[in-house]
Amino acid sequence: MSIEAPKGTHDVLPREWPAWQRVLDEAERLCAAYGYRRIVTPTFEETELFARSSGEASDIVSKEMYSFEDRGERSLTLRPEGTAQVCRAYIEHGLQREPQPVKTWMVAPMFRYARPQKGRYREFWQLSVEAIGCEDPALDAELIALQHAWLKALGIEATLLLNSIGDRACRPAYLERLEAWLDEHSSELDAEARHKRETSPLRVFDTKNPELAALLEGAPTIGDALCAECREHFEAVKTFLDACGVAYEVAPRLVRGLDYYTRTAFEFVAPGLGAQDAVSAGGRYDYLVETIGGPPTPAVGFASGIERIVLSAGESEVGKDGTDAFLIAAEGADRVLMVKILEELRENGLAADMDYASRSTKGQLTQGQRLGARCLVSFYSKSALLEWVGSGKYRGEPVTPFDEIVKNVLAGPRGDLL
Ligand code: ATP
Ligand code: MG
Repeated sequence: MSIEAPKGTHDVLPREWPAWQRVLDEAERLCAAYGYRRIVTPTFEETELFARSSGEASDIVSKEMYSFEDRGERSLTLRPEGTAQVCRAYIEHGLQREPQPVKTWMVAPMFRYARPQKGRYREFWQLSVEAIGCEDPALDAELIALQHAWLKALGIEATLLLNSIGDRACRPAYLERLEAWLDEHSSELDAEARHKRETSPLRVFDTKNPELAALLEGAPTIGDALCAECREHFEAVKTFLDACGVAYEVAPRLVRGLDYYTRTAFEFVAPGLGAQDAVSAGGRYDYLVETIGGPPTPAVGFASGIERIVLSAGESEVGKDGTDAFLIAAEGADRVLMVKILEELRENGLAADMDYASRSTKGQLTQGQRLGARCLVSFYSKSALLEWVGSGKYRGEPVTPFDEIVKNVLAGPRGDLL
């Protein structure tokens, strides 16, 4: 029996890579433009890091972690998300002594044992971007503007949902009111909501059950219960977003699934993805660094699922990989010489290729066209012929001596279009 990829994982095939490349190139370009620097963290961490940071009651810790014991009997976990890792690195390497905020980004695979569906995998890729060390609301707006610019560059029309979920000062009193409301409606709650209530009642709002969502329309919202500082911070985020030209919808029931989030919470939702419509999500996490043993440190960040972004970005001609030159072995060709010239072309920075499947001369021509080669070089016994792809037609150049091929290919087409 043949072996298939594990359930919930996927391959990115060479023909799919150009779409990925475009998404990742735009991310890299924009992160640099916004002053974020790349960070690389390990694929696994001590289980304790995620258990402490995500909260025991979160979906991630309670049912989605890939944890294992290594040969030294340490409990390790394949990273389910990137934020906790970056905060761990921030503390471990004393990055609080560097100029603040420390602004980082990474693209890395994440691992969660969830039920696989369209747009939901057990191994998936995330862009995670963090700004650690400042509580300036302009920073919240900057991160949102960065996502907005990225989605726009990719032609994705997403809606930004925005909320503030308060802090230690105002959330406790609100949670009491919410609890009272949930008590009144306890018979109407689903099992998941009842379970979440026990540990983190705010997460009741994080539901995919439409009936419960409708019921919660009547629940008190945190927005009405914010303290003066949180309200001021939220208003400032909105003002900065307006200045960036980023439109948003205030979503009073938007919460984040993890316990360390404070104040700003946001999500970009894109049409056409079905139930898995969140392409990017994040917010402030002012308590995370201290939760995992660092000094009190405000921070804000977001994470985007690359698969969902690629799905929403759809097909694109941009970023198609192109071969510059394709070498064709015609009648009497010397393949050893061809390999030598192929190497020379590559040393000169060109993408060059030839046939390895014993194709006929015509078959090689087709293969060169299939690869999108701009220049086709046919080798005969004493010389070669260069043909350039132009407006769908080919035009030939005079016969080229072997020792001038590289020079002529580099020089580009001469003469008129056919
Ligand atoms: P969801 O509600 O879809 O489960 P989440 O709240 O678990 O999302 P985050 O942990 O905030 O999501 O991750 C940020 C982004 O990563 C999501 O908006 C989504 O684009 C992507 N993402 C999360 N889980 C998966 C997954 N299992 N497969 C693919 N992408 C995912
Ligand atoms: Mg999830």
